[in-house]
Amino acid sequence: MRAAKIILCILSILSVCALAQRTSSPAPEQSKRTVIAASTVLDGKGRVLHNARIVIDGSKIVAIDPKAGPVDYDLRGLTVLPGWIDAHVHITWSFGKDGKNAGAGGTTQEAAYQAASNAWATLMAGFTTVQSVGSPTDVPLRNAIAQGMLPGPRILTAVEPLMGRGEQTGTPDEIRAFVRKQKEAGADLIKIFAANSIRRSEMTLSQEQLNAACDEAKKLGLRALVHAYKDAVRAATLAGCTEIEHGTLATDDDLKLMVAKETYLDPQAGLVMENYLLNKEKFLGTPGFTEEAFAMIEKIIPMYREFMKRALKIPGLKIVFGSDTLAGAHGRNAEEFIDRVRDVGVDPMAAMVSANSLGAEALGMADQIGSIAPGLQADIIALDGDPLRDITAVRRVVFVMKSGIVYKNTARGATSVGAGVQP
Ligand SMILES: [Zn+2]
Repeated sequence: MRAAKIILCILSILSVCALAQRTSSPAPEQSKRTVIAASTVLDGKGRVLHNARIVIDGSKIVAIDPKAGPVDYDLRGLTVLPGWIDAHVHITWSFGKDGKNAGAGGTTQEAAYQAASNAWATLMAGFTTVQSVGSPTDVPLRNAIAQGMLPGPRILTAVEPLMGRGEQTGTPDEIRAFVRKQKEAGADLIKIFAANSIRRSEMTLSQEQLNAACDEAKKLGLRALVHAYKDAVRAATLAGCTEIEHGTLATDDDLKLMVAKETYLDPQAGLVMENYLLNKEKFLGTPGFTEEAFAMIEKIIPMYREFMKRALKIPGLKIVFGSDTLAGAHGRNAEEFIDRVRDVGVDPMAAMVSANSLGAEALGMADQIGSIAPGLQADIIALDGDPLRDITAVRRVVFVMKSGIVYKNTARGATSVGAGVQP
């Protein structure tokens, strides 16, 4: 009895090791060919392919070949598409041990496990790449996932954001030094707060300060994302920053200037605000979350939606998918798709593309992710349903592959975010 138990134990340790080895290699050295059969593929660029076979070698897609075989994963009857890209999350932002909003900077063991759990939930929800905007605690999580030590999405981080505080923010030279410091700390992008909130929308950085921040980022080869409302949208666009977050209260002229300057817009249609309301007791009383703020949130939701409706009418404006996911919303990022399609009238295919090829283009990674095409990373998900006909299908992610490794392959219809993981 005892010996049998020990043998079982050893066997199970061996199989855990075997699994660990498979998961800990993001780009398998030895080439391993995998074939996925699909009846419907959204290629990430707005096209639909029928009866396709996707051939994967190691971490990359090498061919789309209807005759390829043998089939390793039969995803016929599902909708297959590239893993989603969320341009705006706060991946480490969690609730604390007391159940209250603890922000994004926690360094306790609980906070670290929570951050790992957020990453796991995000990957299980079909998001294979996220941009975290940002916290210094993103860095070890990003690195652990990149090294294959933890399952999670590919993370890009801003490390510490530049908080606009008027004159106090510093001189243009001091701001440039701050930007360089983030690069040295491992930043993949720079995040800038150029306005407070929709309630207090005045600019918190001057044009000169914004120019310095976005110019320095550009010199370092980094993109600059700017939290902006009203006048700050125009100022950030004129400063040559890459992307505007939120953007509410910008005029049509401001939005047209964004088109001319090829600035991306990342507005939100609901999830972040709905999540505050859903978890009101957990946020209330923590910094910035008063009863008055909550009364405003209810009014802000329609303002956000009206703004996005207006933005949709500006020809050529590039609207990316960013959910602003934070504590309480990790793994529910896709709810933002539903809000955009149902409440704003975004075309479902445009919604998918905004989190696929357009999202990749905005990250400067269009040659690596965001499409199902030879040469790109094998980031592939499958939905039980057709999001073009019923956008709530985005809740039913039943298959997740990132860089050629399958992290989820559940029974059809299973919706639990942590269900059925098969490394
Ligand atoms: Zn945010």
